[in-house]
Amino acid sequence: MANLASLPHISVGGAVSTATHGSGDHNGNLACAVRSIDLMLSTGEIVSFDRSHPHFDGVVVGLGALGVGLSLHTEPTFDVAQTVHIGLPLQVGLEHFDAIMGSAYSVSWFTRWCDGLVDQVWTKAVVQPVSVRDRLSVGLDLSDLGAAPAGVPVHPVSGADSQACNEQLGVPGPWHERLPHFGLPHTPDSGDELQAELFVDRAVVVDAVRSLAAVGSFIAPALLVSEVRTIAADRLWLSPAFERDVVGFHFTWRSDWALVRLALAAVETALAPSELLPRWAKVTGLAAADVRGRFPGFERFLGLLDVYDPERVFPNPFFDRLVTGSTSRV
Ligand SMILES: Cc1cc2nc3c(=O)[nH]c(=O)nc-3n(C[C@H](O)[C@H](O)[C@H](O)COP(=O)(O)OP(=O)(O)OC[C@H]3O[C@@H](n4cnc5c(N)ncnc54)[C@H](O)[C@@H]3O)c2cc1C
Repeated sequence: MANLASLPHISVGGAVSTATHGSGDHNGNLACAVRSIDLMLSTGEIVSFDRSHPHFDGVVVGLGALGVGLSLHTEPTFDVAQTVHIGLPLQVGLEHFDAIMGSAYSVSWFTRWCDGLVDQVWTKAVVQPVSVRDRLSVGLDLSDLGAAPAGVPVHPVSGADSQACNEQLGVPGPWHERLPHFGLPHTPDSGDELQAELFVDRAVVVDAVRSLAAVGSFIAPALLVSEVRTIAADRLWLSPAFERDVVGFHFTWRSDWALVRLALAAVETALAPSELLPRWAKVTGLAAADVRGRFPGFERFLGLLDVYDPERVFPNPFFDRLVTGSTSRV
C-alpha cells in the first residue's frame, strides 16, 4: 500500500469506509487506493463501480451505509526507515512547517501543546527503491532546527512502553513494518483512550497551531498526546480532504468523558475560525446538523442512498443520528 494508519490492527473495509489516513504531503487517505468496488445491495444485486463511474467518488467513503467489496491500487514494495527527533521548538516548527512535513515520505508531530515544544517529530523516509528516495529527498536535518535525534526508541505517549512501536533509529524495514507507528502484536496507542481528530485547510495551519497552543494548559488534564499529520487532497465526497490539502490534528484523550467533553469543546472552539472538519470514527462535540453541513458532498451522498439502498437496510445507529439529528451530538 502507498500508506498506512498509525496502527495495523484495522480492517481494509473499516479503514476505507471512514477515510482513515496516515501522514505525508503527497499521500491521500487510505480510501484513495480503491480502484473499484462491487457493492452488494440489500436485494442481493451487485453493482460495480470503477473510477470512471460518476458515483465512484461518492460510494468509496460510505460510513458503512452502502456495503463494500474492494479492489485496491498497490505499489511495488518499498523499504522505509523511521527516525524520531525530540524537542522541536514549536515556533521553529511553524516557521519551517512545509519544509519539515515535506522532508520525508510521511511525517508526524507529537505534542501536548504545552512548553512551546513539538515533543517528537517522526519521519518515515523511503530508502528503497533508490529512485523513489531520490525523488522525495529534500535534505532537511531537524538537528539544525534545534531538535535532537532520539538515541533510543520512544513511544508517542509519555511513559508508555516503546516495545509496542515499530523499529526506529533509522533501521530500514518493509513499508508495512514502518508506516504504522505500532506493531501488530502490540496494543496501539495507550490501549484505553478516547480519540478525536479535527482537520483544517493546510493554508491556515499556522493560525490553527497557535490557537491550539493557546488552550494547551486547559486541555492538558485530558490529553495523553496529540498528533499532527498532513493529508493530500482527494475527490471522495465524504473525505475530510475533499478537493483540498489538509492538516489533521489528532487527540488521544484519557478515557474520561467528563474531562474530555470540556477539552474537546475547547479545541473545537479554538479551531472554529479555521472551518474545521471532524474525523469520522472519532468523537466530536459538534451537533449532527453541524457535521452534515461541513461536508460539501453530504447531500449528494444521501442521494446515493436513495439509489442504492432506498429501504435503508445498511445504515448503523451512528449514521442514523448523523442524518436525522439536529442540535444533539452525533
Ligand atoms: C489506537 C487507534 C489508532 C488509530 N489510528 C488512526 C490513524 O492513524 N489514522 C486514522 O485515520 N484513524 C485512526 N484510527 C481510527 C480507525 O482508523 C478507525 O476507527 C477505523 O474505522 C477502524 O477500522 P476498523 O476495521 O476497526 O473499522 P470498524 O470500526 O470495524 O468499522 C468502521 C465502520 O466502517 C464500516 N465498515 C467496516 N467494514 C466494512 C465493510 N466490510 N463493509 C462496509 N462497511 C464497513 C462500518 O460502518 C463500521 O461502523 C485509530 C483508532 C485506534 C483505536
